[in-house]
Amino acid sequence: MRRLGGAARIVLALLTLASIYCNSFPAQALSRENSKVKVVATLFPQFDFTRQIGKDKVEVVLVLPPGVEAHSFEPKPRDMARINEADLFIYTGKYMEPWVEGLLKGISNISANIIDVSKGVKLVASDPHIWLDMDNASMMVDNITAALIAKDPANKDYYIDNAKEYKLKLKSIDDRCRNAFKDCKYDTFVYAGHPAFGYFARRYGLTCLSPYKSLCPDSEPAPKSIMEVVDKMREKGIRYVYYEELLSPKLARTIAAETSSNMLPLNGAHNVSKADMDKGVTFLSILEEDLKNLKKGMECKSK
Ligand SMILES: [Zn+2]
Repeated sequence: MRRLGGAARIVLALLTLASIYCNSFPAQALSRENSKVKVVATLFPQFDFTRQIGKDKVEVVLVLPPGVEAHSFEPKPRDMARINEADLFIYTGKYMEPWVEGLLKGISNISANIIDVSKGVKLVASDPHIWLDMDNASMMVDNITAALIAKDPANKDYYIDNAKEYKLKLKSIDDRCRNAFKDCKYDTFVYAGHPAFGYFARRYGLTCLSPYKSLCPDSEPAPKSIMEVVDKMREKGIRYVYYEELLSPKLARTIAAETSSNMLPLNGAHNVSKADMDKGVTFLSILEEDLKNLKKGMECKSK
């Protein structure tokens, strides 16, 4: 291992403490007493989609403990145990959750129960955040619906009706985003987080400026990349910088101070905090909040 200086050692110690703390939440266990379809979902989008489609006919747990960052997550033996007990295990794909491959090696559950929810989605290299394009989100809903029906054919119509209703809500937010972003002072937003908004920006013809080049949110962006973003903001007169959920807003604060701009949150919906989970936050409520904050930051005309 590379020799570390004092400051780096302190940072490393804090990170280790943080990860011990973050992973010490008790894991939600699947109950054995009911006949519901038992689902284990890796990330918040498929966790929430499954809840919305299956409602009272499913029991769904999230692999990520509340507030834990999705890319650098390391599964524990208890996660394997939960997958072995589940009827379905739903994940997004090998780019988003590289840790799933190792996890699957240790399980004895039959492969028919393992659902790659990105099936049919056109994957863009270096951006696994497929759920932030509403067509992809709809496809994920279809994949989850098909998996639930295969496990529980007696409730086929129930799942299909719920999925239909939910997809209308996805279409509604998609339409409102498209309309809102048509008439804004800026077509660019500055995100001081890892590259999570590629699909989203592409869908609405926007540019997302970020100093992060790596998917690993632990890696600090290079000062040169930060200065490039600062220069662009000054050149265009952009007055807002977005910070990432579940990540320290330190970088956004630096950029905001450098450019005399304001900070707003922007949530990529990978996972939610314990407080938000308890509050009943959903994928759709996260998007509503993102839409509101983007309209403000890009100075859009629509209210
Ligand atoms: Zn991400």
